[in-house]
Amino acid sequence: MFKFLSSDPVHNPTTSSMADTEVKTTTCYMCACRCGIRVHLRDGQVRYIDGNPDHPLNKGVICAKGSSGIMKQVSPARLTQPLLRKPGSERGEGLFEPISWERAFEILEKRLSHLRTTDPKKFALFTGRDQMQALTGLFARQFGTPNYAAHGGFCSVNMAAGMIYSVGGSFWEFGGPDLDYAKLFVMIGTAEDHHSNPMKMALGKFKRAGGRFISINPVCTGYSAIADEWIPIRPGTDGALFMALLHELIAHDLVDRPFLQRFTNAPQLVMLDEGEREGLFAFDPAAGVAGDGRNPHNKLAWDLTSGRAVQAYPEGVEEGRSLALEGHYTLPAGTRVAPAFQLLRERVSQHTPEWAEAITGIPAERIRQLAREMGETALHQAFELPIPWTDAWGKQHPTIQARPVAFHAMRGLAAHSNGFQTVRSLAVLMSLLGTIDAPGGFRHKAPYPRHIVPNYLAFNDPDMIKPNTPLNAAPLGFPASPEELAVHADGTPLRIDHAFSWEHPLSAHGLMHNVITNAVRGDPYKIDTLLIFMANMAWNSTMNTMEVRKKLNARGEDGEYRIPFLVVCDAFQSETVAYADLVLPDTTYLERHDVMSMLDRPISEFDGPVDSVRVPVVEPTGECKPFQEVLIELASRLKFPAFTNEDGSRKFKDYPDFVVNFQAQPGVGFLMGWRGKDGTQHLRGEPNPNQWEMYAKNNCVFQHHMPKDQQYMRNWNRPYLDFAKEKGWRQKNDPVQLAIYSDTLQTFRLAAQGKSKGRQPPDHLRERIATYFDPLPFWYEPLENACVDTQQFPLAAITQRPMAMYHSWDSQNSWLRQIHSHNYLHVNPVTAKAAGVEDGGWAWVTSAWGELRCMVRHSDAVEPGTVWTWNAIGKASGAWQLAPGADESRKGFLLNHLITEELPFAGGQISNSDPVTGQAGWYDVRVNLRPAHPEEPAESFPQLDAVPSVPGLLRSGRRFMTHILSKKP
Ligand code: SF4
Repeated sequence: MFKFLSSDPVHNPTTSSMADTEVKTTTCYMCACRCGIRVHLRDGQVRYIDGNPDHPLNKGVICAKGSSGIMKQVSPARLTQPLLRKPGSERGEGLFEPISWERAFEILEKRLSHLRTTDPKKFALFTGRDQMQALTGLFARQFGTPNYAAHGGFCSVNMAAGMIYSVGGSFWEFGGPDLDYAKLFVMIGTAEDHHSNPMKMALGKFKRAGGRFISINPVCTGYSAIADEWIPIRPGTDGALFMALLHELIAHDLVDRPFLQRFTNAPQLVMLDEGEREGLFAFDPAAGVAGDGRNPHNKLAWDLTSGRAVQAYPEGVEEGRSLALEGHYTLPAGTRVAPAFQLLRERVSQHTPEWAEAITGIPAERIRQLAREMGETALHQAFELPIPWTDAWGKQHPTIQARPVAFHAMRGLAAHSNGFQTVRSLAVLMSLLGTIDAPGGFRHKAPYPRHIVPNYLAFNDPDMIKPNTPLNAAPLGFPASPEELAVHADGTPLRIDHAFSWEHPLSAHGLMHNVITNAVRGDPYKIDTLLIFMANMAWNSTMNTMEVRKKLNARGEDGEYRIPFLVVCDAFQSETVAYADLVLPDTTYLERHDVMSMLDRPISEFDGPVDSVRVPVVEPTGECKPFQEVLIELASRLKFPAFTNEDGSRKFKDYPDFVVNFQAQPGVGFLMGWRGKDGTQHLRGEPNPNQWEMYAKNNCVFQHHMPKDQQYMRNWNRPYLDFAKEKGWRQKNDPVQLAIYSDTLQTFRLAAQGKSKGRQPPDHLRERIATYFDPLPFWYEPLENACVDTQQFPLAAITQRPMAMYHSWDSQNSWLRQIHSHNYLHVNPVTAKAAGVEDGGWAWVTSAWGELRCMVRHSDAVEPGTVWTWNAIGKASGAWQLAPGADESRKGFLLNHLITEELPFAGGQISNSDPVTGQAGWYDVRVNLRPAHPEEPAESFPQLDAVPSVPGLLRSGRRFMTHILSKKP
């Protein structure tokens, strides 16, 4: 037995034997990076976790979070049994009684069956940071409800949509910087979260090889600290910087003209005459219909050699053509036209570095130098790789052109209400430098690139919401025109979150942050059951936290809750659990099967597709059940067609069986490795009953290396496009021309201007759509600035994720909370002194929407107009099994209290989100600062009454440590 203060060694390595240690491989989920890990077990208990050296993603590297998974496993906050709210208790009181899984399923089956046979849209499924959206989306679709989304709308949908609508792919899982060949690497708005270990490994190698690294961020993040240069920038102004860089690159002709002519829509002719097709591309009707952005084949370009308009493809790419990028022309029918690039040139002509300096705070001369550095590196330090390849029009290129300027950007750009156009301006900047899927630049990861616009229509037909009927399309997708919006004939939203409506037309990931507010208001209709998985909607996953907590408890005039039934599935006692009517205890990532699938979010590398799995390395704790199993069980009980045999029996025994046997198309399933009955086929093939075993034997990962000639220029690479279509990753093998100019956006603008014949927005949204659906990138102030007095609230307030924690999960991790048990507001000393706030002192931070009290640290590592803090460390008292007096709730704080989920608009309210995509505007909030009075309590505000422990919590962390320490080797 371990004795406190004893001189006996806790562990004697000389007598230690590894003989009884079992090592199993699986995939980490302490963050979304998904590194391969080895879990070392003794007596069935996890004793140690290290990185798997044989895993292609992390090659054995592990971070502090990853190795602390052992403490997540034994967290005292773990839920272990299904719970039903005690009759007569209020939501939020946290009073529950344990029930069996059978009882939980009976309750759900009865309720959901009634909804499905009466009005399926009254069921809403919203999931947080899950990695199985292919299953959760399928469940909603089979149920027949459009009310489904995952967390992307409040995370980084601007990054995904802004890039995908421009270059066909995006950062992180979908693509990234090729630091093996880059010479200059520019990182913008990125903290150490997404793509953590691989990015750090690549950066180390890049710097050792002499690469130059510039980080642009309001905060000198950990990445900025190792950069050759940190360029501070004001939050929400990155788009202005990109516009000025475009101005400089074009003014000094530092653009890749041959690339623009062949591989982008820069030479395509935009019609300038007012009318129905104003601002759309001129086209040759003999070569096909006008198209909606998904039809690139019949556009016209101006050939300077012959002095006439020609079809951009294939005529325009014939030998001897010289497509105009500049100028104004007249078509034979008298239509005035100009190449898209000409319009971009005109757009950025006023966006001088001086203009951007006033907005961004970056000196004009530095912006000039930056543009020069980017342009000269891309064009003058370029080189070629001796890899012959064939483009989509059959031209054989003897080499691949490298453009050694790489960019990486994430949430710092995305989480603003101007994020979509900001990300588009970055994508256009990268395109002008020719650094798309080129060595040293941005490179795609399979199954990307997608079409621009991707061939995935979101469900949008009100008549198809019918009892007992699956939807005829997936709930999420990528609209290409107003006709594809999810609205009724009068323009009102079809979905509870208003996604794909005129309020946020391209909301590819939904708007989870508005579900509760809209549902409580009954806008556009009332729902009955809200099922939330892995999202802490009563705390750090929501804006306006205190009000949203009240809304979860709001009752109608009939005395019933406005959201009648709230189901929460989580592994831990988060703040949201207290509000649930029914709690479903989830497993940890070490206790379940998971897939990182090509149908969803794989872990592909630049040189080919990679998918991976998790396999259980320990038994589920208590009565915990993986959420996947819950969905398979419910889908089977509710007899969804895709889950039921013709004789009415269930099709899939359990989740692993579903993964192996479900086919999205013939031969295409969740996993691409070891397919075919005998496991000898890869990528595509019949289901293999032993597929899980093959993954388990092979480090839980499958990697396919494509031939060298298919690894680059994949937007236009003929063999790659054919291969990707054959393997089911794409519906067509068309090339993906980069959208310097977005005719898709223009179709929405024409509708808003009343110029087109089809669907038009309601009058109160016309100006909004006409303004923000600009076919060319532009910068505008974050929307909050127009609603608040920026003199009164002069500071921008932002958050970043602590490098030792991911989301709110790690507050209960007894190792990680020793690194961060509470947070501070970091303020530049000049700003803090001007406000009279001392280093380490307490201060009030006020926005137009709320106020909080917190501790302040003076820090030179933040630009003077910005204050920032770590996200999701502050906790509600008693949640996560933290003692009511724990630092997390007494000293920690949550910036969300200052952020509104809605802004005033047209006499009412509208989501505090990007008007194009619905991305939550987390980083738009403006605040001021004042010192707290010395007699005020030295604790953060607001404080909440501690919630009680729910029944059945694991609470074994201490026991586990005692157990480990008492074991003699
Ligand atoms: S980077 Fe993320 S996935 Fe990788 S080891 Fe760390 S926590 Fe795990």
